[in-house]
Amino acid sequence: MPFSALGLSAELLRAVAAQGYTTPTPIQSQAIPAVLSRRDVLAGAQTGTGKTAAFTLPMLQILTQSTARHRLPRALVLTPTRELAAQVGESVRVYGQHLSLRSMQIFGGVGMGPQTSALKRGVDIVVATPGRLLDHASQGNIDLSGIELFVLDEADRMLDMGFIHDIRRVIKLIPRERQTLLFSATYSREIEQLAKGLLKNPEQIEVARRNTAAERVDQIVHPVAREHKRDLLSHLIRKGEWQQVLVFTRTKHGANRLAQQLERDGITAAAIHGNKSQGARTRALAEFKSGAVRALVATDIAARGLDIDRLPHVVNFELPNVPEDYVHRIGRTGRAGSDGVAVSLVSGDERGLLAGIERVLGRRIEQQRIDGFEITEREPVVDAPRRNGASQAPGGARSGAPRKHHARSRSDGREPVAARDGAPHHRGRGRNAGGGAGRHRQGA
Ligand code: AMP
Repeated sequence: MPFSALGLSAELLRAVAAQGYTTPTPIQSQAIPAVLSRRDVLAGAQTGTGKTAAFTLPMLQILTQSTARHRLPRALVLTPTRELAAQVGESVRVYGQHLSLRSMQIFGGVGMGPQTSALKRGVDIVVATPGRLLDHASQGNIDLSGIELFVLDEADRMLDMGFIHDIRRVIKLIPRERQTLLFSATYSREIEQLAKGLLKNPEQIEVARRNTAAERVDQIVHPVAREHKRDLLSHLIRKGEWQQVLVFTRTKHGANRLAQQLERDGITAAAIHGNKSQGARTRALAEFKSGAVRALVATDIAARGLDIDRLPHVVNFELPNVPEDYVHRIGRTGRAGSDGVAVSLVSGDERGLLAGIERVLGRRIEQQRIDGFEITEREPVVDAPRRNGASQAPGGARSGAPRKHHARSRSDGREPVAARDGAPHHRGRGRNAGGGAGRHRQGA
């Protein structure tokens, strides 16, 4: 089915063609007609499926068809991270280039002033992270009573990040009478509950099972002692002549340190994580995309929503604590139909994590020993605190204590969100008092 059969206007088709897209992806061919017919939609779709265009294109069309009776925003897209907000905002701009709609992005980490001015001038579409949006709302900068179309993008991630209270607050500010689209990579009881409260008789669309990426991507485990991981990574990059590799570490410090070490090994590298300014992150991403930087070292949260096409290599320098993060990570390779390879460097203490991941995948991952980097007999095979100071945790802390330290802030081992986005810790506390993870807001 060509794009022209979906009921989109000539202006939108022109913008789509300019992007070089010839055929709609499955989520697009199902969601676009549903949204245009003004149905609510509950869509199961991961990053990489073309989900952004699936809601952006019909949203733009609907807004051009209905005339604004006021200068208030008429469409609101909520995203979990500012990176994603920036990417969705960019898609809105690109697809809407031949239309006269005004859009803006609202997220934290940058000054409120320019956003407030843009709101004063009037916009049709707001793409926002929940925290900063609520900041504007509480200061009376934004009136959400004109919202006709509400999109929750990556709803599962928003719940994971503790945004449920913020989402509920936003919902109270928008009209009951509206069209709502909910996109989520995974389904859980929480998502079901949220959907039930938000959506009216939704069209349900499921384009790919969660593990589809996992099935498409070649996966390899290299068993290696922790202290040899960095050498092995440099070796793999050089020997394989990898020109573009996304490397995942568990912590921000680990990402920084690894990027520096790779640089010392003569491999251009940059770290991307929540402590970096928006400018630094954008720059690192641009350099990575242009090929000036060969290795981009990222934490899970920072990498989430990064728009990088067809990554040939993804490396798990450390396995994530949560198997789903593994699936998200390797989903970064082989996008848009091309193949990718996901390489995991697994030390003895990570075997329990590997077993958990293999349980979720429903199969074993092929293991390949690399000459000179084998795990020695002395390497512990159970997940126990390390004794050797040389094989310290990537967080920069030494054996024993450090892992507990990470575990304390979040039991799932992910980065604490407040630190992740560089937002001062006191912000948002009032709003989420006693809200557990909800206190840590992204994009505050
Ligand atoms: P998304 O799932 O929205 O993050 O999109 C994944 C990638 O697919 C983005 O880089 C889009 O530019 C690209 N894309 C979206 N729609 C299409 C299409 N119909 N054909 C080819 N590529 C597309």
